[in-house]
Amino acid sequence: MKKVVKFGGSSLASAEQFKKVGEIIRQDSSRRYVVPSAPGKRFPNDIKVTDMLYDCYETAVSGEEFADKLEKIEERYQEIIDGLKLDFSLEKDFAVISENFKKGAGKDYAASRGEYLNGKVMAAYLGIPFVDAAEVVRFDEDGSFNDAVTDELLAGRLADLERAVIPGFYGAKEDGTVVTFSRGGSDITGSLVALAVHADLYENWTDVSGFLIADPRIVRNSKSIEIITYKELRELSYMGASVLHEDAIFPVRKVGIPINIRNTNAPEDKGTLIVESTCRKSKYTITGIAGTDGFAAITVEKAMMNSEIGFCRKVLQVFEENNVSIEHMPSGIDTMTIFVHKNEFEEKEQKILADITKAVNPDHIELESDLALIAIVGRGMKSTRGTAGRIFSALAHAHINVKMIDQGSSELNIIVGVRHEDFKNAIRALYEIFVLTQL
Ligand code: ASP
Repeated sequence: MKKVVKFGGSSLASAEQFKKVGEIIRQDSSRRYVVPSAPGKRFPNDIKVTDMLYDCYETAVSGEEFADKLEKIEERYQEIIDGLKLDFSLEKDFAVISENFKKGAGKDYAASRGEYLNGKVMAAYLGIPFVDAAEVVRFDEDGSFNDAVTDELLAGRLADLERAVIPGFYGAKEDGTVVTFSRGGSDITGSLVALAVHADLYENWTDVSGFLIADPRIVRNSKSIEIITYKELRELSYMGASVLHEDAIFPVRKVGIPINIRNTNAPEDKGTLIVESTCRKSKYTITGIAGTDGFAAITVEKAMMNSEIGFCRKVLQVFEENNVSIEHMPSGIDTMTIFVHKNEFEEKEQKILADITKAVNPDHIELESDLALIAIVGRGMKSTRGTAGRIFSALAHAHINVKMIDQGSSELNIIVGVRHEDFKNAIRALYEIFVLTQL
């Protein structure tokens, strides 16, 4: 059994957190490859080391004195090193970083030092080799990630290493220029390492016990999801549920390595297991509920629209030409409705309306803003009768008017549109009917 374990910033924010991580790794000898993030927040208003680095580098390139800011960052690491009683120093590394900042080594280089240094501390703490991600995660000349070369480099380098620490979030071009993934990108590194070493499991340790059935800011004490498929996850992430970087899924998914989201602060919790497919039924008919606010709907009406060939295409083309992405598209016989993100649409509104009029000469165009979409997602819906009935009766009992209904053809989700002011109550009503009152 071989596991890759990635620890997020809050799991590594202090010496106390490092100790929990050490305990988790020592408990299971198959946890062989460790991917750390940079130290995150220790308390709600704290600043992540990554953000401190971006800020410090900006000061450096503007020609101002940045030594104080860099010293503050060094103190964050020193606190961890002292708390762990390690006989280890990052002094030389900080001297190199300071020089490179003066030379303008780049924003990505600056941010990457958070993971680089934390990886070094982690390797010293665990007593296992450190592998610099710049040597094994490859970006092309144009800055795009090169998966094939990365896989070859990582697999080659880790083949002889029984255990190793590989810092997350960054890699480098062939000439050594450091490049980072987007924020939260250590999740991707973990996934790449899991792929390269043919891990049996990719454990992603964070500060929550996996995905929750509903957003905890809306549903207090929401239960967590034990097992979820990639497809379900995609539906929920689209609606804003986020725990994992989206690009972390692809590398492990293609070879069938499951991801287990775990909580460093509650290691006894099983967390959420993400798999390609499973015959394990979820405890409830639904797997999760997620929603997003801030949609606008444009309904285009024209008598006999159904027989006018090319009508839909012409309307859609207007959105394409105005560079506005379409999120949903429910339709009737003589109407088609386009859901878009309100903030994307607003500034182009008048132009789009004029273009639609020009393109299809509709009888009427109706606009509605301040809409929210809620996705009720679950692989169990396919084989359960009455799911839609329960959704609508729950919403009706909560006095919520449903503005739109869309059931994906895979029967994996049902999306309902509601008014902004009903958004939270709708989610609560759905949680109640599927999780609290009916198993
Ligand atoms: N440290 C980086 C960030 O704050 C990357 C990561 O934590 O995954 O986004």
